[in-house]
Amino acid sequence: MKKLILPILIIFPLTFGVLWFFTSDKRESFAAVPVVDEGVRFIAPIACDDPRNCIVQNHVDLALGEGISDPSCGNRTYDDHQGVDFRILDLPTMLRGVPVVASAAGEVVRVRDGEYDGAWLAQGREQIGDRDCGNGVAIQHDDGYETLYCHLRRGSMKVTEGQRVEAGTPLADVGMSGRAEFPHVHMTITKEGKKLDPFSGRAIGEGCGDAKGSLWAGNVPPHWQPGAGPFMFKMGFAAEPVSLASIERSPALPTRASKAIVFYARGVALETGDVQKIDLTGPEGFQPVGMEAKPLESDKAQAMRFVGRPAKDEPLPAGEYRGRYQIIRNGDVVLDYWQTTVLE
Ligand SMILES: [Zn+2]
Repeated sequence: MKKLILPILIIFPLTFGVLWFFTSDKRESFAAVPVVDEGVRFIAPIACDDPRNCIVQNHVDLALGEGISDPSCGNRTYDDHQGVDFRILDLPTMLRGVPVVASAAGEVVRVRDGEYDGAWLAQGREQIGDRDCGNGVAIQHDDGYETLYCHLRRGSMKVTEGQRVEAGTPLADVGMSGRAEFPHVHMTITKEGKKLDPFSGRAIGEGCGDAKGSLWAGNVPPHWQPGAGPFMFKMGFAAEPVSLASIERSPALPTRASKAIVFYARGVALETGDVQKIDLTGPEGFQPVGMEAKPLESDKAQAMRFVGRPAKDEPLPAGEYRGRYQIIRNGDVVLDYWQTTVLE
């Protein structure tokens, strides 16, 4: 019987008792920065039911011109990225509705709706034109600050131009309109024409370095800090081989009658040299399967792996199956997750 071992690497759960861990801040150069001087301060623009279900996928690119630098002098950004991308788990989560909220009190000065979610993946530039932000809201705050929220879900707009909002007022839902490859909200903070990073207080073009002071009101979760990671951001079982696109949707769950059983996991913020290890074990009659990937040859914003086996000529063995996903960095296991499911 041919083995079904189909690792996939892509540049880019809540079921069965998922274990979540988040590693502490890894990059020495960036610790959480205290808030300095008085003035407008911002809350997170996304109301996650659990902050662990939201991650910062991309930080601000503080480098001017070519080259990239996130606030921790790392590369968790891309060229000319002017805001912070708060990512949610997957499309089903988006469809349930995750509110995007005003980060501070102010007046809504611009609103756009009507752009299709997923248009960038489906039709690219031809469809979105120069409307990279997609459906968006801009808010004018005190002291010359303005915030912009992008990729909002079509038809979810809850505010109108001229409306006064408070910190936490729902604006719309997280979507993937405009130039978005996954559901997230992009937030840009501008003051007097300068685009600012909320974690360090530094402006785009200044490059990374000593933080000037956090613009956040209070503490933000450690796993949102620049340099944090790596993370496991969704894992599970499926009835067939998966792709990045299918795990974003949530693939069909296995039953004993399925053609196969697969275990998958998606890692985020991986670095050169990281090793991903993934295993699937099961009840008697199921031959365990696992693989250890080659060390990554470059940093990866995200990467997905899966292993699995096809059913033989009879139903998959009944009992408990266990998937395990590990990330090994410099010889140490820095992430170790497992999940079980029972086929009856
Ligand atoms: Zn963005």
